[in-house]
Amino acid sequence: MEKIKMTTPLVEMDGDEMTRVLWQMIKQELICPFVELKTEYYDLGLLHRNETQDRVTVDAAYATKKYGVAVKCATITPNRQRMEEYPQLTQMWKSPNGTIRSILDGTVFRAPILLDSIRPAVRNWKKPITIARHAYGDVYKAVDLYTKEPGECTLMFKGVSGEEQSVLVQKVDGPAVWQGAHNKESSIRSFARACFQYAIDTRQDLWFSTKDTIAKVYDGEFKRVFEEEYEANYKQQFEALGLTYFYTLIDDAVARVIRSEGGFIWACKNYDGDVMSDMVSTAFGSLAMMTSVLVAPDGTTEYEAAHGTVTKHYYKYLKGEETSTNPMATIFAWSGALRKRGELDGNKELQDFAHRLEQACFAVLNRGVMTKDLVNLVEPGTNPTAVTSREFIAAIRKELEAAC
Ligand code: NAP
Ligand code: MG
Repeated sequence: MEKIKMTTPLVEMDGDEMTRVLWQMIKQELICPFVELKTEYYDLGLLHRNETQDRVTVDAAYATKKYGVAVKCATITPNRQRMEEYPQLTQMWKSPNGTIRSILDGTVFRAPILLDSIRPAVRNWKKPITIARHAYGDVYKAVDLYTKEPGECTLMFKGVSGEEQSVLVQKVDGPAVWQGAHNKESSIRSFARACFQYAIDTRQDLWFSTKDTIAKVYDGEFKRVFEEEYEANYKQQFEALGLTYFYTLIDDAVARVIRSEGGFIWACKNYDGDVMSDMVSTAFGSLAMMTSVLVAPDGTTEYEAAHGTVTKHYYKYLKGEETSTNPMATIFAWSGALRKRGELDGNKELQDFAHRLEQACFAVLNRGVMTKDLVNLVEPGTNPTAVTSREFIAAIRKELEAAC
């Protein structure tokens, strides 16, 4: 059988622990036997990030800008405990995802992989709901203050021109708490562009919600910028594709989302996205079945799994145990990236392969062959067989060979 050729490389970012082990298995068993894989490889494993003073993460992000598509393995974000575990670390390196996101100025879209045998907690959800979370500002970059005595607080802005603007926040008669939050128009605009672009790429409607009836200026600005971008740059394409851009208040959105059958992108402000993404992903089943895509305003895309490096499983693996870690989200990161590469290069074979790979995964899962995490989630009567990651990947390989 002749392997599928690639014309342009994919940016490949390797990672840590159990997902690094799965990464090798996926490449070796599911990709390389079928595709003459062309990647520009960056090792984002913690120790290599440390050796390069994290230069490798920055290089990988710029390579992604250059080639347009990347696939990333989960990586460790070091904390105190990790500093003890890896004494050679010269710094508590920042989250690679944060670094890449800020270089690409991107927005993260999370969507679940759905199975017939796992029913969402919300009965009427039939299609995935993709959450887009704005990842700049608001309470995440706010300053807080606690005061003890009666008094008043003013919010004051001083422009570079020297001009000042101020507003009384509140007069209080006792102890109080205060918070100063901000957002930047440029960041809101990039967020809007990434959302409209991803809606077009994935042919899904876009919903956006804020609380602009209360935060008239703050949330009103989000609503305004989205509308402006839509009218100026995306309306025509949306209409041509039969897509809808729909703005509503966050509380109305929550009610509509629950009543909906899914199949759209829900763009959320930072805090709403933080909370709603956990609710939506839990209602759909499992973190191990959640994909994550970083999209830049110019359409540059990086695919990954939403979960981390699955440390507990890795320690078992190190002791020689075969683990039953679910590779689905990581496989779908690869299929997503290969499909996108195929679309950008007009490489139909590569796009077809991405589709076959996903179908092979579904075929295996629909026979009830699955990793342990899914066994407890399937509907009664499914009779699942729990297998190890290696066995699961081998079953997909067989299915794929039959289909190729
Ligand atoms: P995690 O790796 O997502 O795992 C948390 C737990 O969720 C696991 O212990 C496991 O539960 C379950 N789980 C997650 N993915 C699974 C899969 N594919 N198959 C089966 N079960 C799965 O989160 P964490 O333990 O909090 O973080 C570990 C490391 O990952 C940290 O160093 C963190 O910095 C990093 N991290 C990286 C990213 C990223 O690169 N995007 C994202 C999040 C976290 P059981 O143990 O009960 O089986
Ligand atoms: Mg959260």
